[in-house]
Amino acid sequence: MIVDLHAHTLASDGTDTPTELVEAAAAAEVDVVAITDHDTTAGWAEAIDAATRLGVGLMPGIEVSCSWQGISVHLLGYLHDPLNEGLLAELDASRESRDTRARRITDLLAADVPITWDDVMTQVADGATVGRPHIADALVANGVVPDRSAAFADYLYTGSPYYASHYAPDPVEAVHLVHAAGGVPVMAHPFAAKRGRLVPDEVIADMAEAGLFALEANHPEHTDEQCSRAVDLARDLGLHVTGSSDYHGTGKPQGLGARTTTPEVLEALLAEPTHRGIVRP
Ligand code: AMP
Ligand code: ZN
Ligand code: FE
Ligand code: FE
Repeated sequence: MIVDLHAHTLASDGTDTPTELVEAAAAAEVDVVAITDHDTTAGWAEAIDAATRLGVGLMPGIEVSCSWQGISVHLLGYLHDPLNEGLLAELDASRESRDTRARRITDLLAADVPITWDDVMTQVADGATVGRPHIADALVANGVVPDRSAAFADYLYTGSPYYASHYAPDPVEAVHLVHAAGGVPVMAHPFAAKRGRLVPDEVIADMAEAGLFALEANHPEHTDEQCSRAVDLARDLGLHVTGSSDYHGTGKPQGLGARTTTPEVLEALLAEPTHRGIVRP
């Protein structure tokens, strides 16, 4: 049984429609795939339809952007109420701030390379959460860089002179919010150091205390050592571990099912009290 609990679509910075994500899961023989777009559940309805039609297991989820003392933390949430007002208020604030911030990054870039806000907006699907990958796509379209990875390496990395941050809730508060919305919170890629600074283990302990379910230990951007560190910390904190591809379509090299979660952990997750269930395969 192949379980992949982290994937993006055109509702944020992936390149597949929600239907195409589910089709890709079927083609890769993934039994359960999660849709976890950044700060939005806009892709759920289409993904649920496609999964029901194609007989693929679907875990409705989200990846909540969080920030602790300026350090980025990503919190996955599964099976929550997408209309929960407390969580929605924070997601709306993040998405609005993401727009302002993307304009700021684009203005900074425009001083040195050919790019306009219109070029960026062309890359963003209707209503999608705007992120640096869309700016990367505009740089690719304008011939500045060959692909997203090069755009991040040359211009968009955290701490670049063209970087700007956006509002995001505190990660411990976000764990509470996901819980209050009837969801299961999992910390995404806790030790992916190449993305930028990491929060101290004490913050992860506070998230565990607040009701975190698992650490996403097995992730394409973790080295073997970072993966083991996450497994060890999860054990110390009494948390489960998950694994997932963080699939972004053609936006990142890893395919669906590149990393997986054990059926035992999936069962444990499904045994948690949640607002809704998965679409069964
Ligand atoms: P943002 O949410 O706007 O801060 O942008 C972060 C997003 O960019 C995350 O979804 C990452 O997966 C993606 N990202 C970060 N580094 C890279 C990279 N080197 N190549 C492609 N995508 C990246
Ligand atoms: Zn992403
Ligand atoms: Fe992430
Ligand atoms: Fe992600």
